[in-house]
Amino acid sequence: MVRYVYDFTEGGREMVGLLGGKGSNLAEMTRLGLPVPPGFVITTEACRAFLTTGGEPMGMSREVSDHLKAVEKAAGRRLGQRDDPLLLSVRSGARFSMPGMMETILDIGLNDDSVLGLAKVSGSERFAWDSYRRLVQMFGSTVMGVDAALFEQAMAELKDLRGAPDDMHLDAGDLAELVETYKTVIRRETGESFPQSPAEQLHRAILAVFESWNGERARLYRRREHIPDDLGTAVSVQRMVFGNLGSDSGSGVAFTRDPATGHPGPYGDYLPNAQGEDVVAGIRNTVPLSELERLDPTSYARLCAHMRTLERHYRDLCDIEFTIERGTLWMLQTRVGKRTAEAAFALTAALADEGLITPDESLARVSGEGLTRLMFPRFDTSGNGDPLARGLPASPGAAVGAAVFHSAEAVRRAAASEKVILVRRETTPDDLPGMIAAQAVLTSRGGKTSHAAVVARGMGKVCVCGAEDLEVDTEAQRFTAPDGTVVEEGTVISVDGSAGAVYPGSVPLVDSAVMRFLETGDTGDTGEGSAGVVDAVARALARADTVRRLEVRANADTPEDAVRARRFGAQGIGLCRTEHMFLGERRKLVEEMILARSDTERHGALAALLPLQRQDFVGILEAMDGLPVTIRLLDPPLHEFLPDRTELAVRIAAAEARGDLPVARDVELLAAVNRMHEENPMLGLRGVRLGLVVPGLVAMQVRAIGEAVAERTRADGAPQAEIMVPLVGDVRELRIVREEVQRVLAEVSEASGVPVTCPVGTMIELPRAALTAGRIAEEAEFFSFGTNDLTQTTWGFSRDDVEAEFFSAYLDKGVFPTSPFETIDQDGVGRLVGIAVAEGRTTRPELKIGVCGEHGGDPESVHFFHAAGLDYVSCSPFRVPVARLEAGRAAL
Ligand code: ADP
Ligand code: MG
Ligand code: MG
Repeated sequence: MVRYVYDFTEGGREMVGLLGGKGSNLAEMTRLGLPVPPGFVITTEACRAFLTTGGEPMGMSREVSDHLKAVEKAAGRRLGQRDDPLLLSVRSGARFSMPGMMETILDIGLNDDSVLGLAKVSGSERFAWDSYRRLVQMFGSTVMGVDAALFEQAMAELKDLRGAPDDMHLDAGDLAELVETYKTVIRRETGESFPQSPAEQLHRAILAVFESWNGERARLYRRREHIPDDLGTAVSVQRMVFGNLGSDSGSGVAFTRDPATGHPGPYGDYLPNAQGEDVVAGIRNTVPLSELERLDPTSYARLCAHMRTLERHYRDLCDIEFTIERGTLWMLQTRVGKRTAEAAFALTAALADEGLITPDESLARVSGEGLTRLMFPRFDTSGNGDPLARGLPASPGAAVGAAVFHSAEAVRRAAASEKVILVRRETTPDDLPGMIAAQAVLTSRGGKTSHAAVVARGMGKVCVCGAEDLEVDTEAQRFTAPDGTVVEEGTVISVDGSAGAVYPGSVPLVDSAVMRFLETGDTGDTGEGSAGVVDAVARALARADTVRRLEVRANADTPEDAVRARRFGAQGIGLCRTEHMFLGERRKLVEEMILARSDTERHGALAALLPLQRQDFVGILEAMDGLPVTIRLLDPPLHEFLPDRTELAVRIAAAEARGDLPVARDVELLAAVNRMHEENPMLGLRGVRLGLVVPGLVAMQVRAIGEAVAERTRADGAPQAEIMVPLVGDVRELRIVREEVQRVLAEVSEASGVPVTCPVGTMIELPRAALTAGRIAEEAEFFSFGTNDLTQTTWGFSRDDVEAEFFSAYLDKGVFPTSPFETIDQDGVGRLVGIAVAEGRTTRPELKIGVCGEHGGDPESVHFFHAAGLDYVSCSPFRVPVARLEAGRAAL
């Protein structure tokens, strides 16, 4: 029989799919013997059933009441008991953490009667009415759908009336009055009364949590984080413990290590006399955890011991929510904590040093995406005076943008490609769209565990929070710094999430420490306290290089790029485009070649191009000496090298209008351009087709390559040129070109006295090539997947035109989760890759196979290419370290 409810004592973290992250970890902590208030979890399966059928599944409510009885028994009191009521929290929690995106309702079980009982047993009327006030407010807004602002407004009005600076200054009588006001609001807004029956409260709260799975912000968050929409949330029902019972009580959030830097902890925020929601909401300013050590040394010591237990057990950084009720510590939540890229590298290296994880696990826990982030430049603040203000460095990185004060404005401006910084006193889950749209988030309140900080870190977004010196006035859309500077909406500011500082204007950028290391190999201390991260990155890359099977090459067209790629660890060039060798001053020669009326004229033009190309190849082969350099023969349509058609036509018409004769060459060029005009040039005369129809073109390029190889060989170099033919669709095309290559190389060998041989291979970038790869391999010594063209030709999407147009609609409608030009489409394009690999190797087992499209540097795609059995990936020089790391991770 299907079970929908599990007691905390029955579960564990292996049940995360069924019990959600929060529920399964509460169970795990219970299993570890940590002090967790008793409770039970309603499964994600129950939620899914509810969301699909609109009703709760059969038997669920019976199971809930059975488990409730057990909790009541353990607590020695019942839900709704008048003299001493058991109160419950009803908490959401999905398989993947979605901080603050769904609902949680606290203090379930209070009503007009039991609030009096609670006042009596707790000895605090204020506490009892504060709890009741919270329940009516939370239940009213989340379960009954009343606009939360109406409650906040009622609270603000009462505070004004009493002259109370914050809610701590409202007394029991005030809070009782507030409860009445709230109840009136609910009746007015819904036509219904706040339910006095605790059982009804519980039941409706559970269903509301189920429904919050499909709330707007939860959906938005899932789309952004690529979390599937059909998982559903579990619901944890748990006995309440109270952090708001006076000064010997409180709530806090803690990390076992600093989630921003990875430095050993403990680390966190504490708020005396408060419930946990107050900490995260950033309503009152928290104190650092070290303050708890002073306030309540016993609880602090216990907390530290529990954190050590958790870190050893999970073998990772954990974050924790806890509450102290009159000197007794309770653990309310834990999970493996979100962390910045910097912290991910630093702390996995540290955990490996401590022997908690192996070097391979350490490698598995970092990512190419994180490494990319660490390669981003940082602010050069040396010459830039004082910051406007300092806050907490909640999520690192450097961001420049116009200050905006509302989520909607951030979205509006970002849609117009403007870079913005979202500035708020504090953020709430409603600010999520603005946070996504912004380059950085800046808040004047809240600790490193406030909503803004947690969400920004999760998204890898720059964040400075708790910049208390800033007067943020969201109404007037401006903030004021301590020195009197006023920053209005639209003013550009710079936010340094690593240092926790805000600067006026746009601060210049410099290389990050990690980038400097990648460029120079120097792991030394840079004086920025970043040695730990740099060292960790170096170790992760070294490990990746040891375990990976895929080679990593770079796409590089110039000696400078080749040198950089080598420093980044490239093991050769997988794609050397020759297009640029036909540009600039050489255009003239190319024009002459195209306009040539006879073979002699054409040969003249080609002969003039030859020495120029040869010099280019010599430079690249020298920079990559000893490593393979795959040179692609000319690929783009020739008219790309001619002047623009309209421009020519206008020039000729202008001359005629003046009564002059147009320049003869212009007329000739226009005729040529017209002759060569194609409606679909990307499907036209390009790639191998050029070689077959333009006499002498292949020969000239091959001669330049061959002579460069001979020259490098004579200079005691070890050139390893490979010749790659683009856009082949049929083996016969390749055969014709290959015969010519061999003929020319034989001539070069003969003339130079240096035996020159180069492997000849082809790009696989047309579906027909992939489908006939077995035949093509008869003539090809290597394959290189051109996945940009292969994606374009497989989907029939022009990659030059569509990206901006309908892609966003396709992404929104979920046709694909990411652009197939970014991450390889495994089902379609990937299938062609699989066919080509298998059939190519059947013909020629030693066939070397790589990829040279953009996908070669995309982490997810690298894993696919590893699994597909490729020999190497080739990507832009800056992606080489990322590809090395991901190729290593793929091999684990
Ligand atoms: P979220 O997923 O948004 O963090 P939680 O379910 O963790 O939501 O609940 C929010 C806050 O409510 C927590 O920070 C916690 O402090 C408080 N809370 C939840 N359950 C209890 C409980 N049983 N006793 C006291 N406080 C609770
Ligand atoms: Mg929580
Ligand atoms: Mg191509």
